[in-house]
Amino acid sequence: MKLDSISVHAGSLKDAISGGVNSPIITSSAFNYVNQSDVKYPRYFNTPNQRAVSRKIAALEGAQAGKVFSSGMAAISTSMFAFLHTGDHVVLQRNLYGGTTYLVNRMFTQFGIQFSFVDPTPEAVAAACKPETRLIYIETPSNPMLHLVDVAAIASVARERGIITLIDNTFASPINQQPLSLGIDISIHSGTKYLGGHSDLCCGAVATSHRIMEEIQQASINLGGSLDAQSCYLLERSLKTLGLRVHRQNEVAGRLAAFLENHPRVARVYYPGLASHPQHELARQQMTGFGGMMAFELTPDAPDATRFQEALRMVKPAVSLGGVETTVCSPVQTSHAKLTPEEREAQGITERLLRISSGVEDPADLIADFTQALAR
Ligand SMILES: *Cc1c(COP(=O)(O)O)cnc(C)c1O
Repeated sequence: MKLDSISVHAGSLKDAISGGVNSPIITSSAFNYVNQSDVKYPRYFNTPNQRAVSRKIAALEGAQAGKVFSSGMAAISTSMFAFLHTGDHVVLQRNLYGGTTYLVNRMFTQFGIQFSFVDPTPEAVAAACKPETRLIYIETPSNPMLHLVDVAAIASVARERGIITLIDNTFASPINQQPLSLGIDISIHSGTKYLGGHSDLCCGAVATSHRIMEEIQQASINLGGSLDAQSCYLLERSLKTLGLRVHRQNEVAGRLAAFLENHPRVARVYYPGLASHPQHELARQQMTGFGGMMAFELTPDAPDATRFQEALRMVKPAVSLGGVETTVCSPVQTSHAKLTPEEREAQGITERLLRISSGVEDPADLIADFTQALAR
């Protein structure tokens, strides 16, 4: 099956009671164990609804195995701690999602795990690897500047050294990027974003091989970040339109990026789908769509970021991303508020920078809203 069909069909449970077309929601946390091949329990990640949606995630990522978690951070922390011991070393891309950066800085230090944050070039990653390096962790496209990492090149640096690779594939979604086919071992999502897609669900997901999933399963049982049956079903339902939504979001983002790039009150647009993006060629090689996320910078004669956000009528200022509604946020006011001005400057994040998460609305309505807000 192709991705759009996988979105709709993969993994569903058969409804043996009524023959309904949807997976039934099986809410039990207590299951008969006599003469059963495995003992079912929500925190063992093996209840029917957990398994159904995990199969769909695996199929979407072209993976042997999938698993869903109670948040993106549960998926990220469990996947890393499954492999790490005191004294081990991890190479991570600089400027990761804030929550991942805090996890590494605080908890790796607490448990005596060494780490290096590096520019995510194959040369810098290779140079940072030591005999104790167990994991390499990347995130592409990155937040909020939409930098790309050459996924296949990083995967081959790791393979040569027997190091496990992890990618945060949240921004691209499996519709736009298939990291396992590029040689990555573990693909991770904040399901709260595109997989959920309606800004009403908090969950995470992991896709990998059977062999690696066995180790993640042990850590999952111990760390306990499991997802309940109702949320599993809601995620499964949301995923049926993942292909539909993401294709539309790609298209809306393309239209918005072209509009903003030509607007006199916009200084710069950061979007991998634009020919002006420094890594546009890499985006064409490793992504099948350019995604719904972009950032742009207002010129000094435009309204400032706060007034611009207040002036929008349909588009909502909001944190998080990936929903069917278009949202904007100022990284300085939200995700990057805790950084020093120098740290922000080093990343190119200014007071005038805004990030857009494209929804599925009519692009003409969105352009009209941005036009009137920029005219203030
Ligand atoms: C939101 C996000 C996370 C964390 O996910 P939660 O569901 O909030 O735990 C991780 N990575 C990226 C890129 C994100 O956008």
